[in-house]
Amino acid sequence: MPRISLAAAVLLLAPLPAHAQDPLQVLATVGMIGDIAAQVGGDCVQVSTLMGPGTDPHLFTPAPSDLRALQGADLILYGGLHLEGQLGEVLAKLGQSRPVVAVSEGAVPEDQRLTAKDLPDPHVWMDPGLWKGTVPVIAASFAEARPDCAAQIAQNAASIEAQIAALDQWARISLETIPEAQRTLVTAHDAFAYFGRAYGLHVAAIQGISTTSEAAIADIDAVAGTVVAAKVPAVFVESTVNPRTIQALLQAVSARGGTVQIGGQLYSDSMGAADSPDGTYIGMIRHNVSTITTALGGTLAPWPEG
Ligand SMILES: [Zn+2]
Repeated sequence: MPRISLAAAVLLLAPLPAHAQDPLQVLATVGMIGDIAAQVGGDCVQVSTLMGPGTDPHLFTPAPSDLRALQGADLILYGGLHLEGQLGEVLAKLGQSRPVVAVSEGAVPEDQRLTAKDLPDPHVWMDPGLWKGTVPVIAASFAEARPDCAAQIAQNAASIEAQIAALDQWARISLETIPEAQRTLVTAHDAFAYFGRAYGLHVAAIQGISTTSEAAIADIDAVAGTVVAAKVPAVFVESTVNPRTIQALLQAVSARGGTVQIGGQLYSDSMGAADSPDGTYIGMIRHNVSTITTALGGTLAPWPEG
């Protein structure tokens, strides 16, 4: 369906009336936002997530059922910074009749945002210290819609902020143990720049910050050169990106006489399965930090209590 008719279809539907004591119907575009929102809002909100595990937000286009879900929400949370590349017009239309909040844009001051080739890098969740900044943004939007819940929301927000701070500290201590010569993180698409900046890792990726164009042979060759020259021990596949890209990299490394292992699968743009330990924001980052630290020769710090 062309984008113009998506936006038109949204306009045809009237917003649903909300009753003050019913849970606020919140729709989050991606799981990393939905998980934080559910914890911040507690019983005062009911959160659903548009894009499930394994869905690539750069490529996501809404089906009619997705448009109905968006339309039925009292409040919509999205990342922004071009994360939801195909949803811009739809979100703008929906914003005429309900709050539509760009949480990454609200959380990250402009001077701390990363760009690549003049485009904003939307992968803010990879730096827990920055992602913590989405909590007050989400809390403020909920408290405005449900002032009767403001005290509970503030308490929940303080709790999740403390948990993310502990996650950040654990990640920092763990990743610091990776030997200096092995601190290069190679992935299929460029989702880890915030992660690399936060924890002092050099980041190399075959595709850019979006997955909308195919990996080019020249890009695969360039990264293969980096892997061989830096003797990178392991490269990583991503849950939302076709593994063919990394398989092509392994062949290119081999053709240059190098060897490299696959260090495991990382969650870049979606969380793990809902019923798995990786199906939360904290679980997702814990999985990534554990996988990267171990594969690059570091040692994990003890997991913080509580
Ligand atoms: Zn991405």
